[in-house]
Amino acid sequence: MKSFKQIFSEAENKIVGIAAAPGIVIAKAYLFTKEVLEVNGGPITDVEEAKNNFEEALNKSKKELNKIFALAKEKMDSTRAAIFEAQLMILDDPILIDNIKTRIEKEKKQPEYIVDDEISKYQLLMVQSHESYMNERANDIGDIKNRIIRNLQKKRWQSRITNDIIVVSSFLTPADTILFSRSNVKGFITDHGGLTSHAAIVSRSLNIPAVVGTHNATKKIKENDTIIVDGFHGYILVSPNEEQIQFFRNKIEHLVELQKGLEGLKDKPAETTDGKKISLYANVDVTGEIDVVITNGAQGIGLYRTEQILEELGEFPGEEEQTRIYTNLSSRIYPSPLTIRAFDIGGDKFKFLDYSEPNPFLGLRGIRLLLENEKLFKIQIRSILKASKNKNIYFMLPMVSTITEIRKSLKLIDLCKEELKTEKISFDKNLKIGIMIEVPSAAVMAYELAKEVDFVSIGTNDLIQYLMAVDRGNDLVSDLYQEFHPSVVRTVSHVISETIRAGKTISICGEMAADTLAIPLLVGLGLPILSLAPMTIPYAKRIIRNISFQKTKELASECLACSTEKEITDKLEKFFVDNSITRTRNII
Ligand code: PEP
Ligand code: MG
Repeated sequence: MKSFKQIFSEAENKIVGIAAAPGIVIAKAYLFTKEVLEVNGGPITDVEEAKNNFEEALNKSKKELNKIFALAKEKMDSTRAAIFEAQLMILDDPILIDNIKTRIEKEKKQPEYIVDDEISKYQLLMVQSHESYMNERANDIGDIKNRIIRNLQKKRWQSRITNDIIVVSSFLTPADTILFSRSNVKGFITDHGGLTSHAAIVSRSLNIPAVVGTHNATKKIKENDTIIVDGFHGYILVSPNEEQIQFFRNKIEHLVELQKGLEGLKDKPAETTDGKKISLYANVDVTGEIDVVITNGAQGIGLYRTEQILEELGEFPGEEEQTRIYTNLSSRIYPSPLTIRAFDIGGDKFKFLDYSEPNPFLGLRGIRLLLENEKLFKIQIRSILKASKNKNIYFMLPMVSTITEIRKSLKLIDLCKEELKTEKISFDKNLKIGIMIEVPSAAVMAYELAKEVDFVSIGTNDLIQYLMAVDRGNDLVSDLYQEFHPSVVRTVSHVISETIRAGKTISICGEMAADTLAIPLLVGLGLPILSLAPMTIPYAKRIIRNISFQKTKELASECLACSTEKEITDKLEKFFVDNSITRTRNII
């Protein structure tokens, strides 16, 4: 049988991208494009007939949306389903409807043209609006517009998403990714985006294989083409031949076997051969993931990205709703710890600002934005405190770059505690507060910063981006996004030793911890807690159970002396070979 290398070097039907979420899948392609409808701007002769057609299309759109709304209420909780209710309200907006009718009468143009023009004006206003959330809503309005136009053109509305397909798209937002996952989507392929773009992270959390940053997959793949997605290597095969299909079917079978072996590890500790215990926690992006966390044997949640709630809801939930979400999670994972991270908004995540920042990744993001919006921050702090009665919640601040930000946040937390005391609402008085180290200035000052809080978690996704000055979501510069660059390894090492020197708990929750190649290094650098995507936990555990702590320490000090990324990766690869440890990427 041919090797993986042979299969790929011979393949003329391959597309290469970035391996964003592991797994192999063979299925039909579904090309996802936001549909652009041709609009006829010609004249009409019968105004009454045109107005009737518009009314009819409007009613049909309402019927369709009502059905979708009912379905949404079945599948999601009511706050999430409310987005469709908002769309329905737009279809009932008397001003919009009157404007369209009046223009049909006056301009005597096709209603589809007037609908397009009138609703596009709304959309434009929203894009330019200085009110929060409006930009996000512009896409919803676009969907409504297309729905009415489609019904005016008497085109049948077809929900083209069928089960078991691979979504191929130019770009996917995290919200798209979550929505698609509800239709049993088998895989994701995108032209744009990098390894740590949030859509990639969401695919990983949902255990859906994904290849991103292919540049041109949407041009090379046609609807219904059979596709093989190899999310381990970032390869795609379009309309594969029999030999290729057979090769990957064997791989899938092998993978199933491999995973069987992992199941037995669930209740065993992540302990090195010489007795060093490592805690494996899970990163959670979507609430539904909690089952995956539990089945994969995580010892707790090391990172709960609360901004994901905003992506799903499209708005900020109030104190009651947030308290409910956090309480549920805390109870489900109890007595294990739940680390809730304050909203990390900004960058490529949830659009909040009413203006566009020239450099959003260097702008008002994470803790900076929260401190600028104290009201919003206080609602989250109060909700977390109210949900902390089980005493298993840890609260973490994202994107910290100065000690002042920590002090201001702690002051606000104290203020919320005082308020709750006055209101006679109980909470965990010893709620542990931590920070993420994701910014070079914070890494340099790790000792001083750690002194201020109870724990520190290293966010390598951002730390690498800021250290290497390379946008984490930009596939054009993904070559420079080097998690094993000596500067990254040395910085991670510095943060670990400085936090330990400050007497505080240290962990890592960036994607680096989920890279099987990195695990011996991270253990050797002295990290006692690794927080990673839930499905990668068993793989990490198997590696840890096969390595000696003593040897990983030697490996780490050798890596700290290297001057290039290649030298470090060579050493890490060699470590696996020398110690006969199988690594997922070697096997697949
Ligand atoms: C990180 O930056 O490493 C991290 C875990 O945070 P996020 O990926 O959510 O930015
Ligand atoms: Mg981050």
